[in-house]
Amino acid sequence: MAHHDRSVEDLLNFLLMRLDETGFEQLVAHEPTRMMAPYFEGGGGRAETRGAMFTGCATCSQIPAGSVFPSYLHINVEAWPCLHVRSLALPLADDPDYRDGWQPEYTRYASGKLIHQDHDLRQPHQLAGQ
Ligand SMILES: [Zn+2]
Repeated sequence: MAHHDRSVEDLLNFLLMRLDETGFEQLVAHEPTRMMAPYFEGGGGRAETRGAMFTGCATCSQIPAGSVFPSYLHINVEAWPCLHVRSLALPLADDPDYRDGWQPEYTRYASGKLIHQDHDLRQPHQLAGQ
């Protein structure tokens, strides 16, 4: 896989060392990909088109061709780690190297906004150290 931000690398390495073959195949389908989301910057009839670079998921982060988001905060494309990758990591939450920030409830859009889920996806798990 290509080089990515350190936070991305950390989760990738965490998973690559622990996933079984089935999990690995799912991770490959949801690998991090650098992508650009076009959006409008400014207003009052002088809006310019800009591009926001972010790390998205090869499967979950789809930007329809030709689309431009109304503003940066409107970029509602899932960022990596996507919910699927976070769900892959969740059974490993007891691992001392697991980070709370990887939990599914912290899935974010490329804009940085949290994705609000319609239902609670958290599953009970033991706290680290127990
Ligand atoms: Zn994904």
